[in-house]
Amino acid sequence: MKSPISRTAFQKNNSDLAFRLNDLANKRKDEGYQVINATVGSLFDDEGNLLSFSKMDKILKANVNESSRLYASIDGGPLFKENIKKWLFGNYKKGLSTKYKFGACVTPGGTGSLFLSIRNYVDENPVLIPDIGWGNYKSICKQANKTFKTYPMFKNDKFDTESLIELAKESVSEYGYCTILINDPCQNPVGYSLSEEEIEYLIKQLNLLSKKGIVNLILDVAYMEIAEEPRRFFKIISRNKAKFFTIICFSGSKLFGVYGYRLGAAIAISENQEAIEEFEDSCKSTARATWSNCNHLIINSFNYFMSKPSLQKQLLKELETYKSLLKERYLKAKELFDKEIGTNCYPYREGFFMIYPKENASLFCEELIKKDIYLLPLEDKYLRISICSFTK
Ligand code: PLP
Repeated sequence: MKSPISRTAFQKNNSDLAFRLNDLANKRKDEGYQVINATVGSLFDDEGNLLSFSKMDKILKANVNESSRLYASIDGGPLFKENIKKWLFGNYKKGLSTKYKFGACVTPGGTGSLFLSIRNYVDENPVLIPDIGWGNYKSICKQANKTFKTYPMFKNDKFDTESLIELAKESVSEYGYCTILINDPCQNPVGYSLSEEEIEYLIKQLNLLSKKGIVNLILDVAYMEIAEEPRRFFKIISRNKAKFFTIICFSGSKLFGVYGYRLGAAIAISENQEAIEEFEDSCKSTARATWSNCNHLIINSFNYFMSKPSLQKQLLKELETYKSLLKERYLKAKELFDKEIGTNCYPYREGFFMIYPKENASLFCEELIKKDIYLLPLEDKYLRISICSFTK
């Protein structure tokens, strides 16, 4: 029988490999074998429990009521929009408000936010994504019918801003339009964070390019709160004006350890009020036609969290312990995997992951599995180590 699926259906992107390897590792563990499992991208404690904000269940329970059962506003509502800006910009909000206008829309996780950005802020131009990056960027482009081009992340272990700007210039001269996607801080899968100088230089170059055409920057901050200085980008644009259009893709998944509740938001920053209105309108229209409304319980819970300074203080305290845990695990992982793989790990600064270049990575992983070591091969040329799930 001829297959019923459409010829244009989205198939076979192998995006569940990490989950499959994790299942394999867990099965061996249950059989009594000692395994090293660094496949999954969620933060676990050394006993294998998912690390979430300790007050989260209480907050959620306090918000199980009729309001949460009702449909949420498509964009999350005015309170959510105000609260997400407050949290995201922190102490820089006041300074930023004097220079920019903001727009916001709730999304199902950071993924939803990336989808809105790629769907509505990429034209015929290919969106510029990192050559070593989260695999789902390419899938989102495919789903949104957009093309992409990769930029090299590093030159001599430093962020390769020159190459990125060169590609952006090419895009502006060909299309009068460019879209750049950067995952910072704590880049997945490298664990790199841009330095102050690198961000300043990038802004300066993008400002220059903005004189020649449209420049859109999509900043994926999914791992922001794990960074030593989570709001470095906002600090810099509060003193050096960004002339381009910026969309911040926020994710509550890692911040609160609520991966399953799907909390996210797209937040736009621009000096142009009209551009902000267009942004909000396009987000609502696309959202309505895809997932429609988001999870009202997590929206209400986030608003509740933002109304209680003591809860915010507590979360920040817990985040500090996660950072120490990740630092400790990184040192252990580096020692172990330098021996197993080589000493050429990409420059890790902070975050959930580290990565090694490795030819025939898939084959190499199969060899490691024979020693009960489970890592994730990426594009057959890198090995990703999830420090976040690299428990004792
Ligand atoms: N961006 C990056 C780099 C990620 O690794 C992830 C999740 O793993 C996301 C965005 C989106 O996360 P979520 O949709 O769970 O909020």
